[in-house]
Amino acid sequence: MNKIKMTTPLVEMDGDEMTRILWKMIKDELICPFVDLKTEYYDLGLVEREKTKDKVTFDAANANKKYGVAVKCATITPNKQRVEEYNLTEMWKSPNGTIRAILDGTVFRAPILIDYIKPAVKNWKKPITIARHAYGDVYKSTEYRVPTEGKAELVFTDKDGNESFRQTVYDFECPGVLQGQYNKDSSIRSFAHSCFKYALSTKQDLWFSTKDTISKQYDQTFKLIFQEIYDSEYKTQFEELGIRYFYTLIDDAVARVIRSEGGFIWACKNYDGDVMSDMVSTAFGSLAMMTSVLVSPDGNYEYEAAHGTVTQHYYRYLKGEDTSTNPMATIYAWTGALRKRGELDSLPELCDFADKLEGACIKTLTDGIMTKDLTGLVSEGVAVKAVNSRDFIAAIRERLQAALDA
Ligand code: NAP
Ligand code: MG
Repeated sequence: MNKIKMTTPLVEMDGDEMTRILWKMIKDELICPFVDLKTEYYDLGLVEREKTKDKVTFDAANANKKYGVAVKCATITPNKQRVEEYNLTEMWKSPNGTIRAILDGTVFRAPILIDYIKPAVKNWKKPITIARHAYGDVYKSTEYRVPTEGKAELVFTDKDGNESFRQTVYDFECPGVLQGQYNKDSSIRSFAHSCFKYALSTKQDLWFSTKDTISKQYDQTFKLIFQEIYDSEYKTQFEELGIRYFYTLIDDAVARVIRSEGGFIWACKNYDGDVMSDMVSTAFGSLAMMTSVLVSPDGNYEYEAAHGTVTQHYYRYLKGEDTSTNPMATIYAWTGALRKRGELDSLPELCDFADKLEGACIKTLTDGIMTKDLTGLVSEGVAVKAVNSRDFIAAIRERLQAALDA
């Protein structure tokens, strides 16, 4: 068989623990036998990050900027315990945080759906993608526990030292709490561009919600920036594709999301996105079926699974035990990246391969072959067989081969 050709390399970011094991299986069984895979390889495993003093993470992110498309394996974010376990000289920062800062990107998370795993919300038929603005607001706030009576003020001094704004927040007659939050136009703009670009690239409606009726400066600014960028740069393209940009209040959005059948992107401010993404992913079933892509405002893409390195399974794997870790989200990171590469390089065969591999994954699951995390979620009356990761991937390969031969 002639392997499918690529022209531009994918940026490949390897990772840690159980997902690193799956990574190799996926490449060996599902990608390399069929695609003449071209990648620029970066090992973001913790051992290599330590060896390079984390330089490898920065190099990988810059390569992502250079080539446009990356696929990333889950990685350990070190904590105190990991510093001991891996004998680290420093508690290296989260690779995802580093990459996100360099690409200035927004993360989009979407579930993979199959027919007989029913979402908790029964009218949801298509995925709901959450886009979270992962910068500022309460996550970068200054807080104060007010101990006693006194006056709290909001003051702004410009760079020349002129006090251009001063307003009383509250005249405290008793102890209380106080918080100062900020965000930046530049960050909100990047967020907006990433959202509009991703909506165009996936041909889905974009919803955006804030509380601008109550927050007449802060949230209103988000709303106005989105609208201005939409009108001036994206409206025509949205109309050509027949998709829609839709702004509404956050509480109205929540009600509409629950009543909807899905199939759109929901852009949220930082806190809303934090909370709503957990709500939506839980309602759709499983973290192991949640895909994730980082999109930069200038159109670079980094595909990954939303879950971590599945440490508990890895420790069992090291003891020689059989593990049934679900590779779906990691496989979809590869298909997402290959499809995007195919689109950018005009390689329809590569896009078709990505579609067929996803099709083979879905066929395997609908044939009742699945990893253990999913068996409990399946509707009653469906016969299922729980398999280990290796057999699951082998079953996908059979179906992929059949689809490619057809
Ligand atoms: P996790 O790796 O997502 O796993 C948490 C639990 O969820 C697992 O123990 C497992 O439950 C279940 N699970 C997650 N993915 C699964 C899959 N593919 N198949 C089957 N079950 C799955 O989260 P964590 O244990 O909190 O974090 C582990 C490491 O991952 C940490 O070092 C963290 O820093 C890192 N992490 C990385 C990323 C990233 O790179 N994007 C994201 C999150 C966390 P059972 O044990 O009940 O089977
Ligand atoms: Mg959360």
